[in-house]
Amino acid sequence: MSASDRVLFRNVRVIDGGGKAPFSGEVLVAGNRIEAVSRRAGTIAAANAEVVDGDGATLMPGLVEAHAHPSFANTSTLEALGDIPPEEHTLLTMKHVRLLLDHGFTSISSAAAAKPRLDIVIRNAIRAGDIPGPRMLAASPEITPTSGLGDVRLHHMHRDTFAVVADGADEFRRVARHFVREGVDTLKINPSGDEFVPHARARHTVMNDDEVAAVCEVARSRDKRVAAHARSAESVKMALRHGVEIIFHATLCDEEALDQLEAAKDRVFVAPTVGVTWSTLKEAGDYGIPLPADVLHALEVELEAAVAGMKALKKRGVRILPGGDYGFAWNPIGRNARDLEHFVRLFGFTPLEAITAATRHGGELMMQGGELGQIRIGYLADLLLVDGDPSRDVSILQDRDRLLAIMLDGRFHKRPHPRAAAARPMAAE
Ligand SMILES: [Zn+2]
Repeated sequence: MSASDRVLFRNVRVIDGGGKAPFSGEVLVAGNRIEAVSRRAGTIAAANAEVVDGDGATLMPGLVEAHAHPSFANTSTLEALGDIPPEEHTLLTMKHVRLLLDHGFTSISSAAAAKPRLDIVIRNAIRAGDIPGPRMLAASPEITPTSGLGDVRLHHMHRDTFAVVADGADEFRRVARHFVREGVDTLKINPSGDEFVPHARARHTVMNDDEVAAVCEVARSRDKRVAAHARSAESVKMALRHGVEIIFHATLCDEEALDQLEAAKDRVFVAPTVGVTWSTLKEAGDYGIPLPADVLHALEVELEAAVAGMKALKKRGVRILPGGDYGFAWNPIGRNARDLEHFVRLFGFTPLEAITAATRHGGELMMQGGELGQIRIGYLADLLLVDGDPSRDVSILQDRDRLLAIMLDGRFHKRPHPRAAAARPMAAE
């Protein structure tokens, strides 16, 4: 193995991502895997390794964004997304995946593409090594019924955004098969509405069992995944009934929905996307996007319900993942690590629990055979070297300048900062 294939991080504070208390030690990466972890200094031989002296900085797994929209363009309306020509839109998506990696997200699970093949082509280009970007699961656009979230057409004219409209089980099945053919990892459906959608509010369940079942049947038969925009309690239950694995939002759960999520906790992931709810309520006005009073009130109520629901789900051991629907004008891409702070402030997570959610649980979401998201021997080497201790203050992860080094699959995307880390190749010891 050549020198560049081995990197030894010395003098680091390790957050293993699995939830254990941080410890001082050293970590050896060989190829794209973690080869050794030690709690004692000087115990791992540095033979043929590039040595990075962390000078007490924190080494932790790369972050996983569970609800990413790399092709969302930080627009203030849904229709503005549809106006972007595919060529510009591809370049923009390319820019965004790099931005996410620059901010420490070494994995992203897309929660819908803004045009049919955007996620797919970008994921493939990253995998081929043609462009920089995180590990990525590619999604379809949002498959939604007429009048559902994402159906922005007017009676007298066509308009587009991030959705493909389907009605009835046969149409949902055909659209799902279409996107399987194109190469998605995840099929996204919208069984509930959202407060800003006039005729499909958050409490409304707008798909029926046959439609959800049809998409799930397609996914199951091809080893794909279904992710559901499910705010209403009934939409959560409907999704669970048919085997949906990724439940987004789950903001208006009743007791029965909580029970059912708990019963399915070994196979489902919940991503509340609190980032967008918070910023829509508290900050959208600053962007000149005043929402009607009734919508704001409904969002307040929904946030309160979401906070209570997530606290309950956390107690019941359900995996709740950070990922906050970043990609709108008032909730732009790049700010994604803010979700971890929301988990601490709103849901009562400790900083370490929020990190575990974004690393170990996020790693389980990424379908890499369970070897991602922790600093453990044999795990994939996606690592961040952080100036400071995020297990005390998780908000420092929002500052990309504090990410001294970013490693993806054993290679530096960002090389160690010269101030805090003296990297030098060592001869055999
Ligand atoms: Zn979303």
